[in-house]
Amino acid sequence: MVKINQTNEALEKDDKYIWHSMKPYNPDATMVITKAEGSWITDNEGNKYLDAMSGLWCVNIGYGRTELADAAYEQLKDLAYYPLTQSHLPAIKLGEKLNEILGEEYVIFFSNSGSEANETAFKIVRQYHQQKGDHQRYKFISRYRAYHGNSMGALAATGQAERKYKYEPLAPGFIHVTPPDSYRSNDLPECDPTELESVKEIDRVMTWEMSETVAGVIMEPIITGGGVIMPPDGYLTGVKEVCEKHGALLIVDEVICGFGRTGEPFGFMNYGVKPDIITMAKGITSGYLPLSATAVRKEIYDSFKGSEQYDYLRHVNTFGGNPASCALALKNLEMMEKENLYERSKQLGAWLKSDLINVLQHHPYVGDVRGKGLLIGIELVTDKETKEPIDVSIVNKVIASCKKRGVIIGKNGATVAGYNNVLTIAPPLNIEEEDLTLLVQTLKEALNEIK
Ligand code: PMP
Repeated sequence: MVKINQTNEALEKDDKYIWHSMKPYNPDATMVITKAEGSWITDNEGNKYLDAMSGLWCVNIGYGRTELADAAYEQLKDLAYYPLTQSHLPAIKLGEKLNEILGEEYVIFFSNSGSEANETAFKIVRQYHQQKGDHQRYKFISRYRAYHGNSMGALAATGQAERKYKYEPLAPGFIHVTPPDSYRSNDLPECDPTELESVKEIDRVMTWEMSETVAGVIMEPIITGGGVIMPPDGYLTGVKEVCEKHGALLIVDEVICGFGRTGEPFGFMNYGVKPDIITMAKGITSGYLPLSATAVRKEIYDSFKGSEQYDYLRHVNTFGGNPASCALALKNLEMMEKENLYERSKQLGAWLKSDLINVLQHHPYVGDVRGKGLLIGIELVTDKETKEPIDVSIVNKVIASCKKRGVIIGKNGATVAGYNNVLTIAPPLNIEEEDLTLLVQTLKEALNEIK
């Protein structure tokens, strides 16, 4: 067994053996994390950090919950693995629980990651139309600035050119439209949803592309990794209406927004819409084990029933719905409900946002503080009038300064391709109030350094 005790030795070996996500994008930032508890992570030099990003927007229930480890352990002893070509009880129970939370009838396909959950959705939607005889419906509409995953279809749906251009050609058939943006555009927030310019754009694009070629639309309720971009309230209902008008299905990507991040069990619940398909990952297990899901409206699933032998959904996933992941996910969801974490996210998030606005609004570079629940973005600009995005080197300074003070925050945003001018905050939903106070104070001090 390899034993690594010293930071330098660990980092040397890390540099030799591990290809990190995004490296060398952030070459100075590597930490070797050895332990975590609540909202705090510890590196192998014993430094403690407040993790105000929940890892990668995952650990909704906080770190170190032994009940989750026990649920996985007990399941591993009984049945460690069986594929969902057959069935097992942890998957059935989790499917039932997800339906209880969704409040509508959905049939669940399990996979291992958010990217796979979206790929699965695309295949289901295309085949659904095929089976109805709509053979030309293959196109998907998604939005600039959104992220939907790293695989060739999910990346094609992603609307951030800087993440894509080195890997093209990606899966064909993905078309991008402009998202509404409560900070940068005036998209008539109070009007009839179908009057929103961003909704009309989808209507126009579907018409121009010919409705009979459009299979579906994929969007997050709030664009997260593109910089916490808030839509006006009626936007999602407007998009659903347009989808129905053109015969397209609406996929809502809840990979980050799901499981309380925005103060509701799912992000779409803030906007009173009923999606055809919902994809989810990260928070379903609070990041403790890999698991994702594609929840499909019952009527869509039913249309696959009784199809010819070679016509069923030809899509298999070896590890998807792994028994231990499902047992752990069920425990995670039960505990989040018991601890009232969805409501806590709503209340703490509202408090945090207003505190951040109070403390930061007069800072010359703070253009906007926005979000829902414990999903918050702070957009940095050089000029509040022109909203010129600040250079990423300054954003990096703020992040490094927070880290030096023991607080981890994120950066996102593709206001202009490649710009990351939005600081992001997404702590565990059970973060202590005093830790939120520390977060605000730390941000204030770090931002004061760049005045
Ligand atoms: N959709 C969204 C909205 C995401 O933020 C992500 C990952 N950050 C994905 C999909 C892809 O998830 P994964 O990394 O698990 O494949």
